[in-house]
Amino acid sequence: MANPQRAYTENAAGNFFVDDTCIDCDLCRQIAPSVFKERADHSFVAHQPESPSEAHRAAMALVACPTASIGTREKHDARAAAAAYPELIEDDVYFCGYASRNSYGASSYFVRRPGGNVLIDSPRFALPLAHRMEEMGGVAKMLFSHRDDVADHEKFHEHFGCPRVIHRADKSGIEAEEVLDGYEPVALDDELLAIPVPGHTRGHVVFLYRNKFLFTGDHLAWSDNRGRLTAFRDVAWYSWTEQTKSMKRLLDYNFEWVLPGHGRRTHLPADEMRQSLQACIRWMESTR
Ligand code: SF4
Repeated sequence: MANPQRAYTENAAGNFFVDDTCIDCDLCRQIAPSVFKERADHSFVAHQPESPSEAHRAAMALVACPTASIGTREKHDARAAAAAYPELIEDDVYFCGYASRNSYGASSYFVRRPGGNVLIDSPRFALPLAHRMEEMGGVAKMLFSHRDDVADHEKFHEHFGCPRVIHRADKSGIEAEEVLDGYEPVALDDELLAIPVPGHTRGHVVFLYRNKFLFTGDHLAWSDNRGRLTAFRDVAWYSWTEQTKSMKRLLDYNFEWVLPGHGRRTHLPADEMRQSLQACIRWMESTR
């Protein structure tokens, strides 16, 4: 629970606040951008919600926050916000909310499909989320982009009995029933492709769904500041050179959505996405 005694002094006067346990994961600023802003190394409430819809978005940020750093000074019924996850992005792809401190607030995604629902990276385990997923058909499989974003995967595995998929190079210490080997793309079924992209970690994988949605973990994300796709050189734990090569291989594919673990998501026509990816690669090559 967020502690009002530890609230940042920059918070706008009013009900919602952020306390000093914030880890600056950016999620609240993505979920309720009119309410939460960044200053130095943390978020704060720049503007108190004025409408029911703004208050709902702020409460959704409260539910998603990995560190329970967002609070309200008055009692606030967050049940509607809790029930809003998984939140539809487009088609049958959903954002899970409920981020985990263990994955530093990474985003995870749920894909609802007649052939079996898929959870991509692990959110924090919470019964309201698990029950909503049950209502939506459960989880048939969990896919991990890499070792850092597995969070509460054991609890989801126990709850849904779903097999977990990870690349062998990232598997150390992580239980998984299916293991990806090598660096060639692997068709998981007729609409889901696993593409190994070593760089951030040695066993990092991105998942391409229906040639439209690319789930990118910590390999690739949108940068509002740069106005293009980007990658995170400071956290290229395995190899920035290899990550640049991996990025080039993504030019073989078409996609309209980039859905990352960290960083911003984006939706562009496939040709504009390709141009943005090319710009990202040029920048990566210039920084080697
Ligand atoms: S979601 Fe929580 S941890 Fe993340 S930036 Fe907002 S207040 Fe900080």
